[in-house]
Amino acid sequence: MALMEWANLKAHELRALAADDAVVIAPVAAMEQHGPHLPVQVDSRLATEVSHRAARKSHSEQPTVVLPVVWAGLSEHHMPFGGTITLDYDTLLSLFRCIVNSVQRHGFNKVLILNGHGGNIDACKMMAQQLSLETTDVTVVAATYWLEAQSRLEPLLEDQSNVLHAGEAETSMMMRLTPELVDDSDLASHRTAGDLSFLLAGQASFRWRDLASVTPNGVLGDPSTASADKGEQLLEAASDAISELIRDPDTWSAAPDIRSDHTGGVPFVL
Ligand SMILES: [Zn+2]
Repeated sequence: MALMEWANLKAHELRALAADDAVVIAPVAAMEQHGPHLPVQVDSRLATEVSHRAARKSHSEQPTVVLPVVWAGLSEHHMPFGGTITLDYDTLLSLFRCIVNSVQRHGFNKVLILNGHGGNIDACKMMAQQLSLETTDVTVVAATYWLEAQSRLEPLLEDQSNVLHAGEAETSMMMRLTPELVDDSDLASHRTAGDLSFLLAGQASFRWRDLASVTPNGVLGDPSTASADKGEQLLEAASDAISELIRDPDTWSAAPDIRSDHTGGVPFVL
């Protein structure tokens, strides 16, 4: 099945996809340091790849078109290591408001924000909520690919239970896609604890800190356990999960309203 890439299509082809009730995948990721061995494009490259594979797998059942990746995200926590372009939340929300409004005006009403960067997870949920409230005739779903695919990715990994920044999983997938951009000459020396608890306070409270407080080189985990073969399996597993999400009619169904007429004799709608 040919890949439906928004940027490669003619306008009339996109109008036809809208008439066909296509899902629009809007990938968003980051341009940020990924340790001494990976290029700064990692998250954007991987979000693009997972989006493309998922669209190919979905299209015959649920027409799907993929926008170009929004290549910068919320990366303030990576700034101490250099090479990083960061947006603020207001800018990211404004950008996605324009994207969602544009596709909605062209007749699309299903948008999947496909996130490939840890620092965007909460922001993507907030954007999905905000834009759903603003544009009621569009369903906006936010997914982070490795969270949606958690149960499929964990059995494939030895050092970590899911994707960690510049560790086993991301290094494997980049070895598969762009081996010429991976410096694999001394991966064992880049290993770190891969501990995400630096963002926690108390038992379950959040406290912001940047990555310099938890890793000496910008890596989380052990990239020496990576391989291109593992990368291919991870990309297939991740895109299987996203394709399933896209093809599930429940993902796009209208919310039920199960309120009774009243409580305490006072109606909900006055
Ligand atoms: Zn990353």
